[in-house]
Amino acid sequence: MFANTVRSLLPRRAQSHFKRNLHKPFVKIVEVGPRDGLQNEPTHVPTDVKIEFINKLSETGLQSIEVTSFVSPKWVPQMGDNTEVFTKIAKKPSISYPVLVPNVKGLEAAVSVGAKEIAVFASASEGFSRKNTNCSTQEGVNRIKEIVEKTKSLDSTLRIRGYISCVVGCPYDGYIQPKAVTTICESLLSLGCYEISLGDTIGVGTRSTMEKMIKDLLKITSADKLAIHCHDTYGQALVNICTALDLGIRVVDSSVSGLGGCPYAAGATGNVASEDLVYMLHGMGAETGVDLKKLISAGHFISEKIKKPTASRVNKAMYKKYFQ
Ligand SMILES: [Zn+2]
Repeated sequence: MFANTVRSLLPRRAQSHFKRNLHKPFVKIVEVGPRDGLQNEPTHVPTDVKIEFINKLSETGLQSIEVTSFVSPKWVPQMGDNTEVFTKIAKKPSISYPVLVPNVKGLEAAVSVGAKEIAVFASASEGFSRKNTNCSTQEGVNRIKEIVEKTKSLDSTLRIRGYISCVVGCPYDGYIQPKAVTTICESLLSLGCYEISLGDTIGVGTRSTMEKMIKDLLKITSADKLAIHCHDTYGQALVNICTALDLGIRVVDSSVSGLGGCPYAAGATGNVASEDLVYMLHGMGAETGVDLKKLISAGHFISEKIKKPTASRVNKAMYKKYFQ
């Protein structure tokens, strides 16, 4: 069903994804494990392990890997080695290596090490914005405006990706009205973000809340400006991703091994596991460009290093049983 309906749902600008294979829709995966994943892992991960991990991910066929965050190490000690990680990874010209930037200071640090793409973030929820960044959602947008203004003098070619967190639910404010997401999304797009990643930060979204939120957004923008970012806390991530795909979204964020968690929801898991996502997409007849076997190996590597069993159900044992 997905493969058949895909083309009719696709906005014209996103149809270029079909050029590589006219019969298979292309879904781009943004791997966020090294940043969103590891940032929320309690185990300290040595810098050389992160570098080796990212280098392994670069060999899988992924097109975008978010590698670190230029935040103050006082806030996020796990990302304190951002400069070393960014400068020492073996970068491939075909891959984008975005870094998360919370403010102008972070932007300056990112540009000084040669970052070509940054990610900025705002929240659709007032409660989350205040707790997480100590400002209102509007002040969060203003902070992004400052970052964007600064890029013009530092590096006008820098690509800027926007995240909106808590797009359907918030640990403090509960259900989030689609209007709140639409307002922030409109602001970030007008500031010049090339794409907005819609984050179900605590994984409370369901097919119906996702659908309502995305349909509202499609009244003000096209699906090729949107990406989906689902955490799997309540087992809804793949269903929610399918909902986004049905509505024309073709970019999905995920973390290999389902790395990460959410400090705001007890027992929360991380992002949807990249391995499970790739397995599902290939099973649907979509193309990702990702070698599932290599992806599983990269996930196995980091799971062993942080001594945490992979959250992915598509693992080495499963692959061996069904594919070899
Ligand atoms: Zn996330």
